[in-house]
Amino acid sequence: MAATKHKVQPNKIHVKKGDYVMVISGKDAGKKGKVIDVIRKKGRVVVEKANMVKRHTKPSQSMPQGGIVSKEAPMASSNVMLYCQECKSVTRVSFKVTEEGKYRVCKHCGETLPDKH
Ligand SMILES: [Zn+2]
Repeated sequence: MAATKHKVQPNKIHVKKGDYVMVISGKDAGKKGKVIDVIRKKGRVVVEKANMVKRHTKPSQSMPQGGIVSKEAPMASSNVMLYCQECKSVTRVSFKVTEEGKYRVCKHCGETLPDKH
């Protein structure tokens, strides 16, 4: 496995909810998906369909038998990198400032990154 930096910066997360990222370490390395949640306080992110954990649920009214539910678990934000769908690679953000405002763009191809929430 390639050396990865494990610098924890709890309040500075390089990705936002809705960003498309690739998991770069851990059991789901190589998986790509959208960031569905950012837990800024803990420096963690939740990525769609990555780091799935099974949870046993107690019987309830809607599920009288109880059951096993698969759910995404948060992972360290350093485990993911922004993935640019234009140049098909992991990338970093750079900023472009225009009269209309500040945009986040891909450092490789200069494509504007979508800001969806
Ligand atoms: Zn790009």
